[in-house]
Amino acid sequence: MNPEFQKAIPLLLKIEEAGFEAYFVGGSVRDDILGKRIADVDIATSAMPEEIKAIFHKTIDIGLEHGTVAVLHEGVPYEITTFRAEAEYKDFRRPSEVYFISSLNEDLSRRDFTMNAIAMNANGKLIDPFHGVDDIRLKVIQTVGKAEDRFKEDALRMMRAVRFHSQLSFSISEDTMNALIRNAHLLEHIAVERKLAEFEKLLSGVNINGGIRVLAESGLYHYLPGLLPYNQQLIHFAEIEKAALNIEERWALLVHILKKDVREAQSFLKSWRLPGKRIKTIMAIQNGLDLRLQSVWQPLNLYHCGYDTAISVEKIVNIMNRRPANAHLEDVAVQYQDLPIKSKNEIPVTGTDLMQWLNRQAGAWIKTDLQSIEEAIILKKLPNDKESIKEWLIKCNQSSE
Ligand code: ATP
Ligand code: MG
Repeated sequence: MNPEFQKAIPLLLKIEEAGFEAYFVGGSVRDDILGKRIADVDIATSAMPEEIKAIFHKTIDIGLEHGTVAVLHEGVPYEITTFRAEAEYKDFRRPSEVYFISSLNEDLSRRDFTMNAIAMNANGKLIDPFHGVDDIRLKVIQTVGKAEDRFKEDALRMMRAVRFHSQLSFSISEDTMNALIRNAHLLEHIAVERKLAEFEKLLSGVNINGGIRVLAESGLYHYLPGLLPYNQQLIHFAEIEKAALNIEERWALLVHILKKDVREAQSFLKSWRLPGKRIKTIMAIQNGLDLRLQSVWQPLNLYHCGYDTAISVEKIVNIMNRRPANAHLEDVAVQYQDLPIKSKNEIPVTGTDLMQWLNRQAGAWIKTDLQSIEEAIILKKLPNDKESIKEWLIKCNQSSE
């Protein structure tokens, strides 16, 4: 058995000793069968949340209303969730209300795909009423029960199907795909935050291009922020091999291919509810890319971009031109290294120096003069030392008088 499961076996045994059932379930069981590294080991149990809290000393309430308690075991938090069925589905969303049940099979039957509806007990025995193991072997994504019904219950499952297609490179079964095409419009009822979580997993997947193609072909993209008029652009995005790009670089390339100007790009990223800090990173890459596509790196562009952004930009330019992603990266690094300064903090003069040297009052001119100094240093027209800067500045001012 996988060591990650082995570490958690004492938890299953303790719950069983108290007279309840407990199993490993969900993504970790699927990934273990696939021979992949497993992330979070989730546990499902017949015990009620209060009963779990009575069995373990160290617990954290993380979603009591959904039946989930986290238990800290050897420093690792494990989510333990009571077997549950979901109350009536309304508005094509997962209901906020759930009720607890005593049957594992019923708990497995409300899960989304057969590959995610497998449980494993403390002896490593699999409980697989929906033949998820077969589907994992066949590499196919298939809903538990009728796809049509399952997508009507919770439309986010359609996005989940596509992100698993991207992450696992499994195909989507014909029934599931047909239901996805027919019900794509129901995605409209889903909160952007939930769409974003799945879309980002799609963007990070090894089969991202397959995932993007399914979004385009199924019509799901109509119901994702800011993508509606862009079928052709999505297809084009899916033609570019982007294994070497990180997630922010993938977003920047997407924005670039959608040909959005700076303002449109900002509001596109905002409409996805991405955090401001990430929008800034993506926009910096996107702006750098626009400059770089106009000409080879100029010292000023390179300086204003900064090293990390410039490298991201160069990687994107490489893959857009079907070159290896790391082509010329060393040249960019050498060019960057050759910049006389990397930040204006390295310039050894202050506004006060300028006021003294020119005998002038404070004012907006200080910022302008400091910028001219910065630019002259970067362009190697001026050495970066105080004496040279003073002399240069006084000379410039005399000639402009
Ligand atoms: P990952 O490895 O990306 O975490 P996962 O399969 O563990 O994938 P989670 O979102 O962590 O996905 O969900 C855990 C489990 O809960 C799933 O394996 C599935 O059994 C069930 N599940 C999650 N979301 C849904 C949903 N919308 N409808 C039905 N079942 C779901
Ligand atoms: Mg998970």
